[in-house]
Amino acid sequence: MSFTAPKGSYDILPPDSSTFLAVRDALSRPARLAGYEYIETPIFEDTGLFARGVGESTEVVSKEMYTFDDKGGRSLTLRPEGTAGVMRAVIEHKLYAGQLPVKLWYAGPNFRYERPQAGRYRHFTQVGAEAVGVDDPMLDAEVVALAWDGYRTLGLRGFRLLLTSLGDETCRPPYRALLQSFLSNLDLDADTRRRAEINPLRVLDDKRPQVRAQLDGAPVMVDHLCSECAEHYDGVRTGLAAIGVEWEETPQLVRGLDYYMRTTFEFVHSGLGAQSAIGGGGRYDGLSAAIGGPDLTGIGWALGVDRTLLALRAEGVAVPAGPRVQVYGVPLGTTAAARLFALTAALRAAGVPADMAYGSRGLKGAMKAADRSGAAYAVVLGDRDIEAGTAQLKDLRSGDQVAVPLDALIATIQEKLT
Ligand code: AMP
Repeated sequence: MSFTAPKGSYDILPPDSSTFLAVRDALSRPARLAGYEYIETPIFEDTGLFARGVGESTEVVSKEMYTFDDKGGRSLTLRPEGTAGVMRAVIEHKLYAGQLPVKLWYAGPNFRYERPQAGRYRHFTQVGAEAVGVDDPMLDAEVVALAWDGYRTLGLRGFRLLLTSLGDETCRPPYRALLQSFLSNLDLDADTRRRAEINPLRVLDDKRPQVRAQLDGAPVMVDHLCSECAEHYDGVRTGLAAIGVEWEETPQLVRGLDYYMRTTFEFVHSGLGAQSAIGGGGRYDGLSAAIGGPDLTGIGWALGVDRTLLALRAEGVAVPAGPRVQVYGVPLGTTAAARLFALTAALRAAGVPADMAYGSRGLKGAMKAADRSGAAYAVVLGDRDIEAGTAQLKDLRSGDQVAVPLDALIATIQEKLT
């Protein structure tokens, strides 16, 4: 009997795993620079939180959740997205009672029972950011720009920002009715008709040519915004333009989660095929109240780490992840091994990434390991060196080797590495 990673999941192995960490770090860095603080919430939550927060009628909730009863009979669900859990924590701990907006970022796995394909997994990683409690359009612009900056600083160029406004509880219901009446005159199959009843905005996003062909002239939300929403949307665009963020007006943009209103956006990448969304988000002013909290506004995004990695690969952009270690110890004999063991520990304590050969491999095997380690220098130590109070410091790129006094070794290495 042998096992493989469950369908729709995969292992992130070295050396790719350091790129994964570097990408996760780079995507959250702009948010950290803007004062967003780290939050970690449980990977499972009360099932009701997602049913109420994400929306019963969404695909995510109705078809894709990993739901189970624990031994105490509670229905729990592995989180399919991050915002509902973060909002639950903000409400539970009254974070909104302090300074507003509450600015938070997070990173971690999410779970959706989707049909796996390239770029779509059942276990995937997101970096997220949320700004809660202020509905200033400039804050929307900040949030969007933080994602934009994350992708740009990674070196991604082939992505686009799609932007629209989904209106609010004042202007969306009449627009929804208008759209429904438009859709009722089209030639649609039974399933799509049903969707038009439950969530007509989703029909606008239908990719099938026979549906697309009939959608020309369909009313779009941005043409029917109330004056507050129109003004808010103008404010967002003014903010984005002021800092050089470029977007495409995308009135047919809808997203898979029910809680979005007003500012809504998605980042897509041309090198990914069908699963082109590398991140997305929007304003969710109704979410807090929907899950039993006070009337709190909020805006945020989630960026897909897995798909960002695929996009970087598609563009041929290498993310510098740094070498595994910079120094590798090669001991000749047991006395030397004990000395090198202590020296390696001292190097690490001085902040120099270091490793050494374990198990008596002999000079040749240990030198090969040193080369493979990616280190810039090998420290070769034998009994004769110990007697002389020196070690051999070998530059693994040039092959040059010099004897360095043991008590000056760490300082010498530090100097050479800077
Ligand atoms: P969402 O939470 O659906 O708004 O998704 C935000 C981002 O997470 C998307 O733009 C994707 O980059 C990523 N994502 C969502 N679902 C998956 C999935 N099943 N596999 C990989 N990445 C995903």
